[in-house]
Amino acid sequence: MQLTTATLDRLAALLAEGATNKAIAAELGIGKDTAARYRARLGYGPAPQPRRRSPLTLERKWEQYARPVEGGHVEWTGRHRADTGTMVFTHHAREHTARSVAFLIGKGRPPRGQVTAECDAAEWCVAPAHVEDTPGRTKLREALAIVQGTASTLTECTRGHDATTHRRYDRAGRAYCGTCHAETAAARKAAA
Ligand SMILES: [Zn+2]
Ligand SMILES: [Zn+2]
Repeated sequence: MQLTTATLDRLAALLAEGATNKAIAAELGIGKDTAARYRARLGYGPAPQPRRRSPLTLERKWEQYARPVEGGHVEWTGRHRADTGTMVFTHHAREHTARSVAFLIGKGRPPRGQVTAECDAAEWCVAPAHVEDTPGRTKLREALAIVQGTASTLTECTRGHDATTHRRYDRAGRAYCGTCHAETAAARKAAA
């Protein structure tokens, strides 16, 4: 098929703009193969491909970076954020943390607050069965504190924060005020 000069001019302009063969074919009412032929003839490189989305689900993508090791722990073989070292990966152009997705896999719902590993490999473990969000962690640590007799019965902290909403426990089962802790951390960050 012989294209008119006007069509050819427009085709050249579209190629220069970086249009795909499909877009050119649709606009000019020609075949995609014709668009491809003129692309080659006019010295343009291969047509830009529309970016493909990973066919993997979020969970399957996570599994690609998760390596089960001894003790039921799971090691992260994926990326770490350069600034904080947080274990992360990208799925459909969105960054996810390894632990928030581990929590989702383990519990079937998104986490609330920060996700930590509550096993003895707290530094690096991303096992779905070992991670907890803020409410889960608080409950788990409080149960430990009760068992070992370190549970706090104070109704408020030394600065007057209500214990029923602000009490937290560290890994050893020692009680502390979550509000005071957060305020101290924020003040430290502001001063830095
Ligand atoms: Zn673990
Ligand atoms: Zn407090």
